[in-house]
Amino acid sequence: MSKKKLWTLWSNGNLNDEEAALLRKKAAELPVPFDKESAQCIQELLESFLSRDDALGLAAPQIGMSKKIIIFKNKNFDEKGRVRRPEDFDLLVNPRITQKRGEEEIGSEGCLSCPDISVEISRSPEIKVRAVDQHGNKVNKRYTGFLARIVQHEIDHLDGILKVDHQGNIYYPKEKEEFFQKVFK
Ligand SMILES: [Zn+2]
Repeated sequence: MSKKKLWTLWSNGNLNDEEAALLRKKAAELPVPFDKESAQCIQELLESFLSRDDALGLAAPQIGMSKKIIIFKNKNFDEKGRVRRPEDFDLLVNPRITQKRGEEEIGSEGCLSCPDISVEISRSPEIKVRAVDQHGNKVNKRYTGFLARIVQHEIDHLDGILKVDHQGNIYYPKEKEEFFQKVFK
């Protein structure tokens, strides 16, 4: 399985302008039923996610495809290692949040496209999502708690929004202070 290069806002103390431009772009909807290209993009994101052991979720722009596809673990968030069983993840195409409920809660989030930092972000504890699954079937989903947070984070990616855009407190390691102070000045 292919482990695709991850697109990031920065790496090794440098800003990645080209990668940032794609990450910040609004991703394109997929035609349903899927055409050949869409089916390929879905397959690539699926393989890329299943080949990693460091991702709770992944959005297509994070591997350089500006398409509305996300994939994420739906349980066992503390378990290390790769996701193997199909029932342990959800893949959503063209996802749209149709309802948010409850009082927003602050939580700390990491993101493979913003390495080395964590940001405190307010998210709804319960959401309803309308989407299409990997087979092209319409689905309505309800997510709560930490899973709702993951899904909101991944859907943000499709709108070109990264966690650093949320204006929450940002935390980074002391030894990288010099670089991040410049980035977030
Ligand atoms: Zn992310």
